[in-house]
Amino acid sequence: MSPTPRVAVCWDIDGTLLWGGTVGRDVLCDAFTTVTGHRAPIEAVAMGGRTDWLIGEALRDALPAHHAAPFVARGDDFGHAVIAAVTDGWGRRAGELAAVARTLPGVPETVAALAADPAVIQTLTTGNVRVGARAKLGAVGLADGPIDLGLGGYGEGPGQRVRVVEQARDALAARYGEVPVMVVVGDTPLDVEAAHRAGALAVGVATGRSSVGDLHAAGAEHVFDDLADPGRLVAVVRSAREDRHAEPGR
Ligand SMILES: [Mg+2]
Repeated sequence: MSPTPRVAVCWDIDGTLLWGGTVGRDVLCDAFTTVTGHRAPIEAVAMGGRTDWLIGEALRDALPAHHAAPFVARGDDFGHAVIAAVTDGWGRRAGELAAVARTLPGVPETVAALAADPAVIQTLTTGNVRVGARAKLGAVGLADGPIDLGLGGYGEGPGQRVRVVEQARDALAARYGEVPVMVVVGDTPLDVEAAHRAGALAVGVATGRSSVGDLHAAGAEHVFDDLADPGRLVAVVRSAREDRHAEPGR
């Protein structure tokens, strides 16, 4: 078994690492229409911080009740069908991302700075399906770098976002036999809540739709307006790494 890193930095994708235009939204809406035969009522659904699974359910629930009922009755089978269609959609549309996607300020530099510390590992805690996560990181040149896509948590299963962080924790435990201190970096209060419910530290970055105030109010241990200065997150991670009172894997 590999030596256990002391800190796992677990990145959200959208609004945190990068901005991907509307391609991800379009993939989800197309998948929803494939499964239900109805146009996705996307204007009625807040996507930020939600998993693809939960967005599918929220779109279903935003349909008129007589349209939604057959899909409610399918329970988790409905969610699995949407996720399969989303996964399929990314296979066809990943190329569109390259034209619009861009990393947010300081992200490549911050990822590189964290990678310089051998006691730190980087992976994902994202609401995206796995193949969507790879497509998005690939579009900005981050798929084959220090962020380990063989670990992490993804939005392709049932449950609230905390399940994503728990999945990442389980993957770390499976690889290393123990769990390092987890630092979840995300752009919404839902990221912060999920991190805390899973026993991780939460760092908020206000480069998505949520403000510095929103992220503080959600209880994030640290909040940055952006990652333009890589030293700020590096310092947080160093502090987590050296905190003798940290309780790995709480
Ligand atoms: Mg996000």
